[in-house]
Formats: sequence, C-alpha cells, structure tokens
Amino acid sequence: MWNNTLPIAVIGAGFSGTMTALHLLRRLPDLPLLLCERSSVFARGAAYSTDHPVHLLNVRSANMSAYPDQPDHFACWLEEQIAAGPDEIARHVQDTVVGTFVSRCLYGRYLTSLVRESIREDDGALRLRLIPDEVVDLEPTCQGYLLTLAGGRKHAVAGAVLAVGNLLADQTRNGPYIDNPWGSALAEGLQPGRPVVIIGTGLTMVDVTMQLWSSGFAGPVIAISRRGLLPQPHVMSAPWPVPTLDNEQQHSLSRLVRHIRQDVAAARKQGIAWQNVVDSLRPMTSRIWQRLPEVEQTRFLRHARPWWDVHRHRTAPPVAQQLRSLIEHNYLSIRAGRITSVETAAGLATVTYRPRGGGEVATLDAQRVVNATGAVPAGDVQSPLLRRLLDRGLVRLDRHHLGLDVTDRLETFRASGMVSPRLWALGPVVRGVFWECTAVPDIRRQAVELADRVAEDLHPEAIPVGLVRGG
Ligand SMILES: Cc1cc2nc3c(=O)[nH]c(=O)nc-3n(C[C@H](O)[C@H](O)[C@H](O)COP(=O)(O)OP(=O)(O)OC[C@H]3O[C@@H](n4cnc5c(N)ncnc54)[C@H](O)[C@@H]3O)c2cc1C
Repeated sequence: MWNNTLPIAVIGAGFSGTMTALHLLRRLPDLPLLLCERSSVFARGAAYSTDHPVHLLNVRSANMSAYPDQPDHFACWLEEQIAAGPDEIARHVQDTVVGTFVSRCLYGRYLTSLVRESIREDDGALRLRLIPDEVVDLEPTCQGYLLTLAGGRKHAVAGAVLAVGNLLADQTRNGPYIDNPWGSALAEGLQPGRPVVIIGTGLTMVDVTMQLWSSGFAGPVIAISRRGLLPQPHVMSAPWPVPTLDNEQQHSLSRLVRHIRQDVAAARKQGIAWQNVVDSLRPMTSRIWQRLPEVEQTRFLRHARPWWDVHRHRTAPPVAQQLRSLIEHNYLSIRAGRITSVETAAGLATVTYRPRGGGEVATLDAQRVVNATGAVPAGDVQSPLLRRLLDRGLVRLDRHHLGLDVTDRLETFRASGMVSPRLWALGPVVRGVFWECTAVPDIRRQAVELADRVAEDLHPEAIPVGLVRGG
C-alpha cells in the first residue's frame, strides 16, 4: 500500500532537481520533500557551479527564465541585481548585438535565490529538507522506496525523482590525465610552454580553454576531436518560421537533412542566417527525434551528431571572439584525428592519434590531458545508484544507452518494460528519449510537467501547477 504522507525524494539538485522540488513545494502544500545532492552546493549542478566569470551562458539571458510561464523572470532578477550592485555585477554581464549573456556563476546565484525565496514563502523551511549526501540506493518497499545515503542514513519515501544530470565519468585524476573537467583543479601546477591537450573540441573544450587562459596558463593548448569541429557563434538575424515536415521527412534522416539544407539556402537568399533555421526546429526537435525510426536515430548519432552539436549548441559572441583570438595567437590549436592511445608515465602524457584524412600516426607530449568529450554512454557510468537500479531491473537504459528510458510522462521503465511506480526522471538523463532536453528552456518545461505528474499520482484531486501562483 503506497504511503502518501511519506516524503518524495528528488535526487540531484542541479537545475532539473531544484526546479522540480520548487514546483512540488507549491503544488503539494502538505508534502515533505527531500532534495538530495552529493556535491557541496545546492541549486548549481555541473553547469552553474563554476566561479569563473569567463564561463558565460551559451543561451541569451532573455531565454533563461527558470519559469516557462514567466519569461521575464530572470531578466527582472538581473535588473534588480544590477540596480543593487552595478560594479560587482558588471563583470558577469556581457551585452552584445545578439543579446545579453551572463556568467554561469551569476545564473547559479539566481537559482540559489529561488530556493531561498521558496523556503521563505512556501512554508518551505518546514517541508523542504536539503540533504547534502549521495543517494546510493533505492529499494522498493510496500510503502514506496527505502532510500540509502552514502553516509549510511536511510529514509522511507513515497517516490523519487531522478534528476542526476549528464552521465559523466567518475571525477578521477590519473597523474596528468583528467577524466572529467568539472570540479578538477585544471590549471593547478602547470608549467608554461608545455602543452595541455584537450580531448574534444565542443563547448566543454571551450570552457576548459577559457579557464586555462583566464588562470594565467601561458599555453599552448591543443584540442583534438575526430572532425575538429568548433561550436559556432550566435548571430543577429531575423527569425525563420517553424518548418512543416511531411511524413517522409519525419521518418528519413537524409530527407530531413535535405529539407533543412533547402531551408538554409532559401533563408540565405533573404539575408537570414542558418542559425535561425536551426533555431526554427527547436519547438519540434523532440517530436522529430521521437518519430525517427531507431535505425535513423542511430545513423544520426553516428554521423550527424557532431555537426548538429556545433550548429545547435552555440557560443556567446564574446566567447567566440576570444576563442578566435586564442587560435590566431597560436595559444589554441585544433586538430582533427582519431586518438589511438593516451599513455602516462613520470607525470607526463603521450597522446597518439591518427590524423583525419590519412597520414602518419602523430604523437603529442603533454603535461596534462583533459577529457572534454562530455557525457559518457550510460552503461559506462560508475554511479552506485544507477548501477543498483539497473541491477535490480527498476530502471532500464534507453535504446541508444544515452541515459534512462522513460515514458512521455517521465515515468521510468523497468527492465521488464513495465513502468516503475513513482520513479520519475527528467533532464539530460532522459535525452535518449527526447533528445532536446538538456538546456534550461526545455528542462524548465519538463520540471513543471513532472511536478504535475507527481501531484496527480499522489493527489489526483489536486489543481494543475499552471494554476498555482508562480508555478
Ligand atoms: C558546462 C555546461 C554549461 C551549460 N551551459 C548551459 C547554458 O548556458 N544554458 C542552458 O540552457 N543550458 C546549459 N547547459 C545545459 C545544462 O545541462 C542544463 O542547463 C542543466 O543545468 C542540467 O541540469 P541537471 O540538474 O539535469 O543536471 P546537473 O547540472 O548535472 O545536476 C545534476 C546534479 O545531480 C547530482 N547527483 C547526481 N547523482 C546523484 C546522487 N546519486 N545523489 C545525489 N546527487 C546526485 C550531481 O552532483 C549534480 O549536482 C550547460 C551544461 C554544462 C555541463
């Protein structure tokens, strides 16, 4: 018999978990909540934990409200901060021709302020319990689940939300090799003039390079990926209408790509940038992804994904400009090739790679090698919680092993194909199912939907979140 007086646990307090918890507080006024976070900071997650003002959001601040029904919420907060302390805030805010971009660290402060506000206003201090520990297990019980923390404490809960973010490799550092750039002291103890090699040339590489440069490391930095593609910048241009796709375009990757190319050509003739054609797909990207047959999704992941990533996930103009300048001054060089080995000995690393397009195998000696390839396939994840949930068959991986398999209602699937009762997931961990669910504009919608589902499940008579103040 499910127990509706027990708390709901939200596991992970990055953007996804924090926003879900805040919506649940408002949605279910009698419900106790546990918000569990294994790192030392709540409401930040991997993206907003950085202290470096050089790490800018890659989305314009106009589109970074935490609440889908209050699009100006973040912009208003920002104005208040600027009015209260213009000098302090100035170094976190960059106005450009395409809009304002703020530092991710300032955005983290915004999220913290939302938690504080909720704790004050929604009886939150009594109902929201922040638990600074890692959840290592969830065992089904007759009342819900028994949640176990790394520190050994256990909590009986009525259900749980998995908001565990991108699945990253363990934060290990093996001599000069750093497996996961988040949280590591990247620039510590570096010698000038000896290369740092970054594996990957996407947004994570951009972050790492900016951090090395701003910390005073004199270079050089060498970044390698299979194709050597760099994220493209945002530009100022008129919007392009959301396309209407026929059945064949929705089921065939090559037809879809052809259609996008035709739209780009048509847009160019009207002086509209390709960036806006890519953006026009945004409202329907998840639907397109879900309608593509599995074999076409696999083709996309194998061949088109690097191209999609650099065109879709773009850099703020000041970052793009800085990156160009670092390349022009030979601080950063980009190589295209397939890495065949990384060997470490006596505090140094040797990276061997086969250049793209053929040619002799090349080697690079580095004082540090940083893996900036981002999320790893879910099967490789070392998270004790996910391993136990998978071993028990309480969750299963999506068909591409990018994360967890969920229904359209964000309920997790068991290994058996049945839905796991009261075990939900959202955010980047479900991107194999929705694809476009890794950035704030998408997650904020999922958080509202998920809070509605949880409320429906616990109290079917309750009012939908959209009708609740501030929801
Ligand atoms: C570097 C970077 C920059 C980004 N920039 C932007 C941007 O500019 N704009 C944008 O819209 N999106 C951006 N994103 C996308 C980003 O993924 C989302 O904005 C969002 O932050 C994802 O939130 P999340 O809570 O799902 O994941 P995360 O931020 O990864 O948070 C998950 C949290 O769960 C915790 N956790 C995991 N397992 C457990 C456990 N078992 N027990 C307890 N705690 C656990 C982790 O410690 C972590 O704090 C960026 C992402 C990254 C990585």
